[in-house]
Amino acid sequence: VTLGRKYPWQQEQWRQFVRLDELNRLPHGLLFAGPGETGKRDFALRAANYLLCSSPSEGEPCLKCKTCQLFEGHSHPDFWMVEPEEQGRLIKVDQIRQLSEFASKTAAMGGRRVILLQPAENMNINAANAFLKTLEEPGEGVCLILVSHEPARLLATIRSRCRLFPFSLPPSAETRAWLESESGAAAEVEQALALSGGRPLRALRLLDSELRQQWQMFQETMNALESNHMPVLDAARVLQGLQKTDAIEWFQYLVYKRIRAMSVEQQGAPPLVFRFLDRLNEARQRLISPSNLNVLLVWEEVLMDWRAVVDLEARKQG
Ligand SMILES: [Zn+2]
Repeated sequence: VTLGRKYPWQQEQWRQFVRLDELNRLPHGLLFAGPGETGKRDFALRAANYLLCSSPSEGEPCLKCKTCQLFEGHSHPDFWMVEPEEQGRLIKVDQIRQLSEFASKTAAMGGRRVILLQPAENMNINAANAFLKTLEEPGEGVCLILVSHEPARLLATIRSRCRLFPFSLPPSAETRAWLESESGAAAEVEQALALSGGRPLRALRLLDSELRQQWQMFQETMNALESNHMPVLDAARVLQGLQKTDAIEWFQYLVYKRIRAMSVEQQGAPPLVFRFLDRLNEARQRLISPSNLNVLLVWEEVLMDWRAVVDLEARKQG
């Protein structure tokens, strides 16, 4: 846990949140929902910090009081955070049991108790049902904050008991300006934005050197595959070593780029390329599923299909 950063595109949601609290109308269940890697987790941490602070001023946590210091030091006794033990994994029922136990205690510091759960859609049905009980009957002064990138995957009974705060993708001009000042790499911002689907925190990750190297490796691998300089299995091994969601998005970017180039050259891209996009989506579902064990096999199949598309295209052009 680190202190939640503040992002310029979340000002409206923050104002709403603070306003409800000032009116004493903040419900005990809050749902911060919207696309991933836009900063909702940071927003939620900041909200928790604010709710626990003993003297917030001008709608911000003071960052000076005892509770703020404990929060910053990751040792506030009335704050509880639940996340998957590994990114992309499920939240376990045991984690929810501990959460419920925490919710039933009395506040150690006499004020509120705040629970942060993210991403909430990573609960399986047993965990979700266990969580629902706490949401239905929270202890005195308990505030439950849920962060979700895919709220449609939550139980309807959980959604309906929370106040929804919708987050959307920030306008690209705003993201661009922020990325330029954060990264100092203005020349590469545009590509990073396109590669990350407009999500600022992912774009920022892309601008840091490690991820940029992986992107270069991805490009080299795909070029080598297309020009017959690398067998499918070797290319699949390279992709297996990349973060799954990154690799899929880069692949999509590559296909879209190809489609745009084709439509200029030959009046509309052949349907095969469009069908391949469906194929990528399907592969994405298999790759991000926590139960998928054979990542290499998925990549091998996808790359074989891609080879077929590329070969056909090359034959057409003679
Ligand atoms: Zn404070």
